[in-house]
Amino acid sequence: QTWVYGFGGGTADGDASMKNLLGGKGANLAEMAKLGLPVPPGFTISTAVCTAYYELGRDYPSTLAPQVDAALIALEKESGKGFGDPENPLLVSVRSGARASMPGMMDTVLNLGLNEASVKGLATLAGDRFAYDSYRRFIQMYSNVVLGLRHDTFEHILDDYKERQGFELDTEMQAEDWKAVIVSYKEAVEKALGKPFPDDPKEQLWGAISAVFGSWMNDRAITYRKLNDIPAEWGTAVTVQSMVFGNLGETSATGVAFTRDPSNGEAIFYGEYLINAQGEDVVAGIRTPAPISRERADTLGSSDAPLEEAMPAVYAQLRDVANTLERHYKDMQDLEFTVENDRLYMLQTRNGKRTAAAALKIAVDMAREGLITENEAVLRLEPSQLDQLLHPTIADNAKRDVIVTGLPASPGAAVGKVVFDSEEAFALAEKGEDVILVRIETSPEDIKGMHAARAIVTARGGMTSHAAVVARGMGRPCVCGAGGLQIDTAKGVFRVMGREVKKGDVITVDGAAGQVMLGAVEMMQPDLSGDFGTLMEWADKARRLKVRANAETALDARTAVDFGAEGIGLCRTEHMFFDAERIPEVRAMILSNDEKGRRESLAKLLPMQRSDFEELFRILGEMPVTIRLLDPPLHEFLPHSDADMDEVAKASGVSVDELKRRAADLHESNPMLGHRGCRLGITYPEIYEMQARAIFEAAVNVSKETGRQPIPEVMIPLVATHKELQILKKVVDEAAKAVFAETGTTLEYMVGTMIELPRAALQAGDIANSAEFFSFGTNDLTQTTLGISRDDAGRFLKIYEDKGIYEKDPFVTLDQVGVGELVKIAAERGRKTRPNIKLGICGEHGGDPASVAFCHRSGLDYVSCSPYRVPIARLAAAHAAL
Ligand code: PEP
Ligand code: MG
Repeated sequence: QTWVYGFGGGTADGDASMKNLLGGKGANLAEMAKLGLPVPPGFTISTAVCTAYYELGRDYPSTLAPQVDAALIALEKESGKGFGDPENPLLVSVRSGARASMPGMMDTVLNLGLNEASVKGLATLAGDRFAYDSYRRFIQMYSNVVLGLRHDTFEHILDDYKERQGFELDTEMQAEDWKAVIVSYKEAVEKALGKPFPDDPKEQLWGAISAVFGSWMNDRAITYRKLNDIPAEWGTAVTVQSMVFGNLGETSATGVAFTRDPSNGEAIFYGEYLINAQGEDVVAGIRTPAPISRERADTLGSSDAPLEEAMPAVYAQLRDVANTLERHYKDMQDLEFTVENDRLYMLQTRNGKRTAAAALKIAVDMAREGLITENEAVLRLEPSQLDQLLHPTIADNAKRDVIVTGLPASPGAAVGKVVFDSEEAFALAEKGEDVILVRIETSPEDIKGMHAARAIVTARGGMTSHAAVVARGMGRPCVCGAGGLQIDTAKGVFRVMGREVKKGDVITVDGAAGQVMLGAVEMMQPDLSGDFGTLMEWADKARRLKVRANAETALDARTAVDFGAEGIGLCRTEHMFFDAERIPEVRAMILSNDEKGRRESLAKLLPMQRSDFEELFRILGEMPVTIRLLDPPLHEFLPHSDADMDEVAKASGVSVDELKRRAADLHESNPMLGHRGCRLGITYPEIYEMQARAIFEAAVNVSKETGRQPIPEVMIPLVATHKELQILKKVVDEAAKAVFAETGTTLEYMVGTMIELPRAALQAGDIANSAEFFSFGTNDLTQTTLGISRDDAGRFLKIYEDKGIYEKDPFVTLDQVGVGELVKIAAERGRKTRPNIKLGICGEHGGDPASVAFCHRSGLDYVSCSPYRVPIARLAAAHAAL
């Protein structure tokens, strides 16, 4: 078996299609080498080794070592250098690279191959000071990453040394000083581990390889994978690559570039670099880098010259490479490069992470440029990303009390309380607080807190700093490098321009403008025309599933229609009962002793329900409106306080004591499985009769008023048997008949049922005799199939997820092999009885992309979800169809 894949010198064993085996980095390095681009040679140890490594209890297959040896020999040949060679040493970087990029989550070792002998070779090549500084950096990094020593062990040694010499800065250290520090470093290692720092480059290499494979299972990587749905089985590859130095002086540099702007998608060449630096310096955000192109120089406000001016020839070559790569991959590329003594080297290319706004613009632009098709453009946007585009930004003429401006690292706006600590951000967010994480800079340890925060602000770092990259990936607004901030974490304040902001104070962040404002600033709704409208049109052409919304208020219904809903899939009528004006009458109805009393209250509720439905029919025009008759257990409506009781007593003319007695009678031990759903209609048919009448009267009124034909679909909840539906369909049909006779107007309508009990799914063939449509109520169907109370699941389901018992929360993402089976069975049996039966889903799953894909595959006709998720469902339905 082949474990190791070489690249360099214009050829490679692998290519870009082998991401699963070589990781993104390894596969793309191979591809770039094949394209003849300037890539330092190296080799990639495949992800299959990572899998084997863990299967063998952190050990390697015996055939690996000879292959690594052979690859090293080839690398020495290609580079013309020798591993550990005192004359002309080969130094390598050892990096992780998984199938999906996990920036900063795993370990990296640079300058590997330095030892007592080879440092002399490096000194001849690059000077004494540089060589010994590199060597001590290597010892520090290797000891930390591979040998597990603490960073500050070395920091202390260095600080002590500088103090003794009276030095302030590292730049004052000369070769002799570094040599002395190296001696102390090595002593510290030997003291801590009981054995010397490894001098043999091969031993170093194997140590680094194991550290990288080991870092696949570190806490950060595990958290990142969880947040990004990356399976642990994928494993990481390890790429060993000949080092190039961006820190050899003023003719060397290192940087990152994007072929288009990753925050807004504009088609300009975009990036940052540092003269005389190593790659890690840019990403770590320690020095604020300069822009690559002149176009962007002013917006970044850097004092250094853009690469375009500092190194024009290199810039021109880099631009060519960038164009080649973008055309080749047909996507925006994120490049890492190093310039060593005026020579350009490409260290990485990958499809660049981008904000949702950038993803949208890039996809639409590239389709217009003819680089990709419209369908490909549709597939370029993840449905869940749309969320970012649908949420508010700062209102156009809102008053902004700007306290500091930094880099516009990730767009969107958010309001929240200032927090300085990631753990605290996480804890407060868990309690439902909106928080904004304010840090000097962020590191991979902060991802949990960044994810929990509404927005992120940092005092240091550029557009490609950790904070910026991660925030864009997560869709969090972010302002970076807000240099005016003086953060005093210990005191829990930051100061800026003579003002002081304390932990817990409310600020507003505008990630698109790079502004931080005091207080809560007014927000505005997003623009749904332009590129968004275009892409959604393309998505609509591609999808088969229809998309409806769950809505009962006029506001929700309008939002839904604006977002492209093609009907209402679920109007929960009980939500209309909670209105302050109505609730006393609803309570009087529930607490009355007999049908007569109930009918009196219902008569008063009828006009209110009718006007609700009229609103909906007006807004929806000739699109279907599925109205569900009363569903929840009655006790949900019961009066809680004495004042409530008094009010009901007045409305019903019954004494408070008597009411209390009746309320107690309604108590149930298991209300969700109790007197609810169609059971209410069976026991008190007059309730459903009133609701059906309100629906038909409303439909007739609106049809007379507008000349359009409303399409009511009356839905019966929680049916378990055909008999229930038969009885209740008759109630509805009779109400329709009566209303049509009274008004002289007849309208088309449907009666159908929810399928939300396993028995109903199994009996769907029979139920379809009376049901003209099924709507899968997968909230209840999940609850009853898994036997997990949807109201209590929160207490233990997270642990189930953590333990991998359920991979995802089954109330969020449909449990396809359990609940999904029932959906399929019901769809099949329902269609057998009634081939044209309409099938939809209206549980929360209707807006979850993976569940939408399932609905598409199962042949449902539509999904229905909350209004804000309608565009997400439209795009997910298109993805499912493509
Ligand atoms: C369902 O059960 O999936 C459903 C849509 O109804 P509700 O959430 O109102 O019970
Ligand atoms: Mg339900």
